[in-house]
Amino acid sequence: MLGALAAIGILLWFQSSVGVLASIATAWGAFAQWLLFSCLAEHLRLQKKLAGERFQGRISGPQEEIIWACSQCHHMLHSETHCEVCRATIVADDVGLNS
Ligand SMILES: [Zn+2]
Repeated sequence: MLGALAAIGILLWFQSSVGVLASIATAWGAFAQWLLFSCLAEHLRLQKKLAGERFQGRISGPQEEIIWACSQCHHMLHSETHCEVCRATIVADDVGLNS
């Protein structure tokens, strides 16, 4: 990638338009390969994590997530108004929000 960028600079210095286009295409190809292999590596890490295997590297994304659960049946909530499992109505907890 850095080599392709250096080649673009050298070709701009010598004003070779065909060489500049070829170097830009090479730099774009290098970036696309880096992006593709980064995505594949992330996918393999996620599959290893799901399978319970050890993996190297770090999985990107949020480090902390909040999942709301029903206080009656403890199932995960998908609606903001009621629980789909036990049909309990959700009451907003405004304690501390207006102070
Ligand atoms: Zn429920």
